[in-house]
Amino acid sequence: MSGCMLQLAQRAPGSPRSAALTSMTCVRQSWRSLSRTSSVRSVNGGRYDASKLIAATELEDSASDASPNRKAAKHWRSTGRSATTVISHDRRRGADKASPGVDRRLVTVRFWAAYVPCESQWLDAVPMSVEQIDVVRRLVDKYPHYLSLATSAQDIVEAHRRGRIASLLGVEGGHSLGSRLAVLRTFYQSGVRYLTLTHTCDTPWATSSATEGDGEHVARGLNDFGKAVVHEMNRLGMIVDLSHTSRQTTMDALRASRAPVIFSHSSAQALCNTSRNVPDDVLKKVTRNGGLVMVNFYSEFISCDHNATLLDVVAHLNYIRAVAGIDHVGLGAGYDGINWTPRGLEDVSMYPHLFAELLMDASWTEMDLKKLAGLNFLRVFRQVEEVSRQMTAEQVTASEERVDPRQLLFSSAARCSYDLTEALSKRAPKSTEL
Ligand SMILES: [Zn+2]
Repeated sequence: MSGCMLQLAQRAPGSPRSAALTSMTCVRQSWRSLSRTSSVRSVNGGRYDASKLIAATELEDSASDASPNRKAAKHWRSTGRSATTVISHDRRRGADKASPGVDRRLVTVRFWAAYVPCESQWLDAVPMSVEQIDVVRRLVDKYPHYLSLATSAQDIVEAHRRGRIASLLGVEGGHSLGSRLAVLRTFYQSGVRYLTLTHTCDTPWATSSATEGDGEHVARGLNDFGKAVVHEMNRLGMIVDLSHTSRQTTMDALRASRAPVIFSHSSAQALCNTSRNVPDDVLKKVTRNGGLVMVNFYSEFISCDHNATLLDVVAHLNYIRAVAGIDHVGLGAGYDGINWTPRGLEDVSMYPHLFAELLMDASWTEMDLKKLAGLNFLRVFRQVEEVSRQMTAEQVTASEERVDPRQLLFSSAARCSYDLTEALSKRAPKSTEL
């Protein structure tokens, strides 16, 4: 599974617009799903305006944890409109039919994953990733009334206050770096604030969960260059994302990182045994690291089949809360990157149903739900920023680490690399090249 891959429009000859953003498949899917109305009813029959909880999450740590659930639920029910009314109202009010009917009360932050296929590794993964970043930035620019680029935790808070969806840029897959720290640094300058160390392929410096069990790869995790990538991300203030990484890469990254890490879209391995989910011992390490496991809704990672339900997702949330603690669980649904969604959680308009269900469990306090809804992620992001400030104060400078060229030779396709082609040819430059 991947993050959604944005596609630039193919401009028809004679088209008046030179850079139309009309072919963003995954974005259109998002907006279609976001614009559905939803009643707010828990699976067990309770009726709560849980969207109020999401909207009321002020993204500040000062909220009281004292309100009993029942009292809080009554308060949300008695104040303001239902989620259905809010969503419908926004849609009716929308003057621009082509604009996204997004209910900003339900979504505060979107992770935009700049993802390019593993097959592009050794080829044009880097320029393709630049295209993806460019598309997201242009999308945010095109819809300033809905979206706002977030390059800091404070940006998220500000976007929330202004009623915009904070858009966080990430790169899903270390192969997008082309094994160069200069590319990582340039991505940061372009607004990228998290990097998933691998996607479904190994890179010359990290192994993926998808290749685990291949025998020869099983013991490899991060090599020296991989640890330098993590170190440089810490220095820059970029969040290390370990969804998709192999167990050894996960362990190495947890050891190497000075800052909290995230699993941006992974669930509990104890409930669904796939290498994309997080095992118990790693959950405990995440607690010590101060990190966050954001539960993915892909049915294959929830119930290990296509028949997951909202209650199965609740079970994963409860499990991770029990093992890692309430401060280390979040939501990483992965809509637009998943083929099978749980029944009752088909799209983001269903989030209130999830919160309504959790409200039925007295062990979930109002503050717990706010942490799940966003405060935990915000805390992690702030800590990542703090580590970056500390490293700056320590005068840690940009790393000059280069990947060991021998790591680039295991694939014959690596000969597409200019450096290697040049080195292997050992020829004198022609006069026309000087
Ligand atoms: Zn993914």
